[in-house]
Amino acid sequence: MLQSKLFSKTIKNSPEGEESKNAQFLIKGGFINKSSAGVYSMLPLGLKVLNKINKIIREEMNVIGEEMLMPSLIHRKYWEQSKRWDVDIIYKTGTRDNGQGTRDFEYGLGWTHEEVITAIARHYIQSYKDLPKAVYQIQTKFRAEARAQAGLLRGREFMMKDLYSFHMDRADLEKYYGKVIDSYNKIFKRLSLKVLVAEAGGGPFTKEYTHEFQVLNSAGEDMVYYCDKCDFCQNQEIFNSSNHKDCNGEIRNAKAIEVGNVFKLGTRYSDAYGLVYTDKDGIKRPVIMGSYGIGPTRVMGAIVEVFNDEKGIIWPEAVSPFNVHLLALSDSGKVKSEADKIYKMLVGQIGDSEVLCDERTVSTGEKFNDADLLGIPLRVVVSEKTVAVKKIEIKKRAEKMPKLITSAQLKKIIN
Ligand code: ATP
Ligand code: MG
Repeated sequence: MLQSKLFSKTIKNSPEGEESKNAQFLIKGGFINKSSAGVYSMLPLGLKVLNKINKIIREEMNVIGEEMLMPSLIHRKYWEQSKRWDVDIIYKTGTRDNGQGTRDFEYGLGWTHEEVITAIARHYIQSYKDLPKAVYQIQTKFRAEARAQAGLLRGREFMMKDLYSFHMDRADLEKYYGKVIDSYNKIFKRLSLKVLVAEAGGGPFTKEYTHEFQVLNSAGEDMVYYCDKCDFCQNQEIFNSSNHKDCNGEIRNAKAIEVGNVFKLGTRYSDAYGLVYTDKDGIKRPVIMGSYGIGPTRVMGAIVEVFNDEKGIIWPEAVSPFNVHLLALSDSGKVKSEADKIYKMLVGQIGDSEVLCDERTVSTGEKFNDADLLGIPLRVVVSEKTVAVKKIEIKKRAEKMPKLITSAQLKKIIN
């Protein structure tokens, strides 16, 4: 892909009213555009990153569930049935009088989907033979968040991967819950995010612990208490040091970003919706449920918060919009023809969608600054200097010093 053809350009000035690093770098780099507080467009560059995050999530989710897609417009009757129509977080559509006094235009925009999925499940789960089942979706959610000032970390419109599971009994739910935790650990590892699994309170509907996947980072809104030796970790809201088994480790606390969580719902929604199954003895029992979320857009923001320096983003390879950033430091003569050759070679190796070639007629300084801001893991430079010694210059984004190598060596590295 040629950089001059990109829809977006880098922006020199820091965006106004954006304090967070993720919003600053992502807006300046042309990955996202702010529409209003907590509402962002994914520009082509940002969408490439988001798609790579979602691909990793899908690959792991497909091992333990099936993908589906539910609506965003959810009629009030669904929310009323579970007593979640009158909550602060919901965005409601207006009432329209159609002359017959109906409320057909009253919807709540989907901020979570336990209601819809439980209603759907009634059609397909009747007997113990129909259990267990698990489905997930990756979809836009809407929440009237009071504070939406942390860029992609807290949106009013954001993306969520939500998985729902259905079981005969607690034991089966516990088993599946463990599988989801393993799956999440794999996902975050592939995304280069170090996570702590924190115990947390389950909110107003359950006395049970839930588990949150927390990335230690000063941009986070949560505070977690964790042991430096064992895997003890609790959210501040429920933290109780007496729950820590003595392991000689020290308890520390730090700010953290919640990138995912897992809930044992029990029968809260199956009770509200009459989701029951007939067991082997012909007795009707409520289905036991779990729900499990990851926020792909928050994950994208968290990755930027973790991987950056003063000049810009340092994308982990797995989610970078391109694998290689080729900089041609002149648009004529030998430099151009050599850069064209290298570009063709790279495209042949990894495809056009993975190579960004900066062939713009701008200063060398601007090219280097933009490369640092965009944060593509490998920078390849062709200049008068490199052509004179029949080499090219490479530098990893995270490293300080460039190296001179031959194009044959580059080909090997890229392979
Ligand atoms: P939080 O505690 O941060 O408000 P939550 O506990 O309400 O989030 P869930 O409703 O379980 O989170 O959502 C599942 C996942 O969706 C979260 O772990 C997070 O990654 C993501 N998420 C939740 N709210 C937002 C938001 N406003 N903006 C971006 N991502 C979000
Ligand atoms: Mg939470």
